[in-house]
Amino acid sequence: MLSYRHSFHAGNYADVLKHIVQIAILDHLNKKAKPYCVVDTHAGAGAYRLTEEHAQKTLEYVDGIGRFWHKDTIAEIEKYPLLARYIQKIQSFNPTESLTQYPGSPWFSIQAIQEHNIRADQVFLHEIHPTDSGLLSEFVGRNPQVHLQFKDCFKHALGLLPPKQKRGLVMIDPPYEIKQDYQNVIDFVLKAHKKFATGTYAIWYPVVQRYRIEKMQKALVASGIKNIQNFEIGIAPDSDAIGMTAAGMIVINPPWTLMDELQGLMPYLTEKLAGEERAHYKAEQWVGE
Ligand code: SAM
Repeated sequence: MLSYRHSFHAGNYADVLKHIVQIAILDHLNKKAKPYCVVDTHAGAGAYRLTEEHAQKTLEYVDGIGRFWHKDTIAEIEKYPLLARYIQKIQSFNPTESLTQYPGSPWFSIQAIQEHNIRADQVFLHEIHPTDSGLLSEFVGRNPQVHLQFKDCFKHALGLLPPKQKRGLVMIDPPYEIKQDYQNVIDFVLKAHKKFATGTYAIWYPVVQRYRIEKMQKALVASGIKNIQNFEIGIAPDSDAIGMTAAGMIVINPPWTLMDELQGLMPYLTEKLAGEERAHYKAEQWVGE
């Protein structure tokens, strides 16, 4: 039985980077008036109350989204359109000016297809944890464009590819609670890409033991898949002894604007989220087009 609950971590620095990248991809898909599909392999609960016990126990959100919830950051944020868009979305998700709630990846996708307003858009959400499956189901409610899959994504999601829309995002965000997830992600992406080579893939990873990410990088680079980018924020130097020291996103077939946007944003994001001294960031092209 898996014990990971995202409610302990919602809104942390890793979520900030992940959801900024997700928004950039969804905005890009929304630019064309053609239907698309989002396959979210690890959906979580959909939304998180930051006032509740889990978030209050770790207070991870305070050093994530919380760092942008100060009046003195407003002018700074405006300099970075993608960051401003992300912050506006989180503001719109909160009923008052206080930061009390944080949305999950399903909300960003559902919002995007609402903005796009094309009936053939679809969102598929996988979630395996019984409690979070229930919360996700409550959160989504009845929406004919959103399909809940309470199944192991690594067994089920390949069957959804290629989507009938022939364009879209596959969002892969495992907890890596079981170490097998690192290999599962590689195996899944290689198979998925064979079926849907033109899709955009966004893969989240934590740096707990750097060699595991290097192994993922090697496998992806050696696979022959083209157009792979990597974005990472580190809050401490690599160490095998202190848990997650950095977190990143691997993006296959990114929007053509993503690298420029993030190269502009990453220094500021990293300084805010990690502080200057121990921080690092990456915005790299692993494989060209
Ligand atoms: N993507 C979410 C977001 O950004 O808000 C957070 C997801 S959380 C990091 C990972 C979720 O994946 C957990 O809720 C966990 O129960 C679920 N999960 C773990 N293994 C899974 C699997 N094989 N198939 C489907 N869901 C899985």
